[in-house]
Amino acid sequence: MSRKALDELKQQVPLLDYVQAHDWQPARRIAGGRLMGLCPLHSDHKPSFLLDPNKNLFYCYGCGRGGDVIRFAELYHQVRFPQAVALLREWCGLAPLLDQVIDFYRIQLFRHRDAVSYLQDRGLRSSEVIEQMRIGYAPGRCLRAWLTQLGYPASALQQAGLVNREGNDAFTHRIVFPLAGNLYGRSIRGSTPHLFLPGSKGGLYGWEQVRRYPEVILVEGLFDYAVLWQAGFHNVTCSMGNHLNARQFQQLCDATRTVYLVFDSDANQSGQQAAQWMSRRLWAQGVTARRVSLPDAHDPNSFFVQGGDAHQFQRLLEAAHP
Ligand SMILES: [Zn+2]
Repeated sequence: MSRKALDELKQQVPLLDYVQAHDWQPARRIAGGRLMGLCPLHSDHKPSFLLDPNKNLFYCYGCGRGGDVIRFAELYHQVRFPQAVALLREWCGLAPLLDQVIDFYRIQLFRHRDAVSYLQDRGLRSSEVIEQMRIGYAPGRCLRAWLTQLGYPASALQQAGLVNREGNDAFTHRIVFPLAGNLYGRSIRGSTPHLFLPGSKGGLYGWEQVRRYPEVILVEGLFDYAVLWQAGFHNVTCSMGNHLNARQFQQLCDATRTVYLVFDSDANQSGQQAAQWMSRRLWAQGVTARRVSLPDAHDPNSFFVQGGDAHQFQRLLEAAHP
């Protein structure tokens, strides 16, 4: 890639937009329009990450690292320069498109009573959690027309995975959860329950809000996350499946903390086996892990849906074992 192409890429991806899209929030503004906040690259307790939106540069007084948006992507995603460039090129096409899609699906949610009642059946009763997670609904057969009207070419929609080869909306009758750089769709009709857009599921869900807690609750599914958050457990995060990718695992290990593993208690033991294996891996990295046993055949979602409350769940946390 030429020097000129790299400069163009850096202009297309403002550093501030990129770090904010990865859950960074500035804590305060200082002279010259510069911003300070917790460092997303190391476990930070007081804001030591300086970002200059005018120069598109960052520097961390804690871990001593700094540079431009490409350097940030290298460090944040733990990849080499060419992969960081590839990620940024993909991101600058995808991010604005996904924002439009998320807004559209959020409006659709309140137009479809079956979707709202599905959320209620899964225990999501407060509008606060729906707002907080920016949950939407994909009815199908309408996203493509709407985005086309906004001027997005069909090829871009196919490349993003929003439209399939036949030209139809990929997400149909699905509750949609926005992730960093991806979407997760959960069917409300049971068939093929899970769907991500092509690409990585990314890091742990909502990690920037959670990482500062000394105790973190890890669940498998976003509906588990939602009911726990709603019950007041805001130190919850989600791996979207009981297999963690390398980045998610590294996030859990980036500071001294206790991780409560609350995986599904299913008949075939797969959740419990995954929790046991994960617990051993975390202990090996010096992280305190505790496995939480739910009543048989429960996941955190069904536990709350079937009448469990915050007090009972707290007791399960206290009874957790290594
Ligand atoms: Zn740092």
